[in-house]
Amino acid sequence: MKQFTVISGKGGTGKTTLTAAFASLTKDAVIADCDVDAADMHLILKPRVLEKEDYYGLEVARIDLELCIECKKCREFCRYGAVNENFEVDPYGCEGCAVCTIICPKGAVSMKKRVSGQAFSSETRFGPMAHARLGIGEEASGKLVSVVRNNAKNLAEQYHKDLIIIDGPPGTGCSAIAAIAGTDLVLVVSEPTISGIHDMKRAIELTLHFMIPTVVCINKYDINEENTQLIEKFCTELGIPIIGRLPYDGITTKAMLQKQTLIEYAKKSEHANESEFADQVWQIWVRIEKMLMDVRYNKKD
Ligand code: SF4
Ligand code: SF4
Repeated sequence: MKQFTVISGKGGTGKTTLTAAFASLTKDAVIADCDVDAADMHLILKPRVLEKEDYYGLEVARIDLELCIECKKCREFCRYGAVNENFEVDPYGCEGCAVCTIICPKGAVSMKKRVSGQAFSSETRFGPMAHARLGIGEEASGKLVSVVRNNAKNLAEQYHKDLIIIDGPPGTGCSAIAAIAGTDLVLVVSEPTISGIHDMKRAIELTLHFMIPTVVCINKYDINEENTQLIEKFCTELGIPIIGRLPYDGITTKAMLQKQTLIEYAKKSEHANESEFADQVWQIWVRIEKMLMDVRYNKKD
């Protein structure tokens, strides 16, 4: 089974739009929405949920008021201010550090599991999909990304699919690491802005660190061709292939508003530039499929 992840240094580069387009082009993969902090692929793919499971994130402290002698030590030591004057813990303020359990002289504090979201196994018009929803105020974590990836693997086995397409989170935090670890190929979607270049470099540093074959697609390349050249120079020096340059085009927003992938939208479009745009995305996907066939992931274990 091959695993392919799309990431970006920052949000808003067109990563999800491209990933959904790839899913609609292959129709023979499992889709994993691992951008759990800002999951929006379901808006385009409209999954029908088959299975749902609770996700437990951070543990939170709970005070047994029967045992509490109101010594205030937990309030004093909680650096997040999560214990109120009635010695109740705010579940959204508590960071689960467990300091209060250590400091409490009466053993009145214990740590409890908290449901932080749900993970789903679903089906879509393009194939099975694994995704998740975080509760309000919850932060994404690598643990939830791993849950989604495991569900995607199970779906791939169940439906006999040999490819998982992963929409990874932006940035280089633990969620991004969990989304790329052990994958066969990573596509970094970049934009030719100063911050876009900076964030792309950090994303590439991450993939190189984990020795994952990496390719780059420059989105909206025509908004600043000088910066596009800087991206090309940087990638060439590192031997990272640029597998596509996409122009700035409103088709992505129009397709999103219609809750369609840009490939679906372009099929019905009468505008030549929109068909051309979809054709370029298709060519990028053809190159990726070829690389996935060629690539040999250098697993150490
Ligand atoms: S440290 Fe323990 S006993 Fe003291 S106020 Fe907090 S919960 Fe109550
Ligand atoms: S677990 Fe940590 S953050 Fe939560 S209430 Fe106790 S000291 Fe505060």
